Amino acid sequence: MNGCLKKSGAPSLEELKKSPGFPKPEDYTLGNIAVIECTEEIPCNPCETSCPKNAITVGNPITNLPTIDFKKCIGCGICAAKCPGIAVHLINLNYAPDKALITFPYEYLPLPEVNEYVTLVDRMGKGVCDGKVEKVTSIKSYDLTKLIAVSFDKKYYEDVISMKRIK
Ligand code: SF4
Ligand code: SF4
Repeated sequence: MNGCLKKSGAPSLEELKKSPGFPKPEDYTLGNIAVIECTEEIPCNPCETSCPKNAITVGNPITNLPTIDFKKCIGCGICAAKCPGIAVHLINLNYAPDKALITFPYEYLPLPEVNEYVTLVDRMGKGVCDGKVEKVTSIKSYDLTKLIAVSFDKKYYEDVISMKRIK
């Protein structure tokens, strides 16, 4: 069932868990997967059209909320880079025994550097924990959006969505 779960502000984790693009606990066992936090019924589907594995479906009407087949997702990050709403990030809970990896779109300069420590933030922009930048991906097909991958204490995997610089 699609529906607008919240009209303004950041949706709560409870609301997101009811949305069709948000992983269930068992989905995280698959490895690096896209987490879609799209709860507004807007005419938009770049996530669907850009996915090389056809893992995401918006369908008709185009205002449907996106659904995702996590078994098809290879964690490439293209949907996160292409989403105009910055509504997609990736989580890899299998990254290390005590560390998860988050990959999120980033459009600011200067870019963080690999091995730099940053503060990961929640949906309200509040600092949650420190993380270490593992990878900065900048390729032509991502347009101006970069993908930043940061390792962090995996107990915060449902809380963090992006970063701010520590300094
Ligand atoms: S991360 Fe890649 S494979 Fe997974 S849903 Fe996004 S575009 Fe598709
Ligand atoms: S591209 Fe982003 S904003 Fe548009 S439908 Fe997909 S997840 Fe939602």
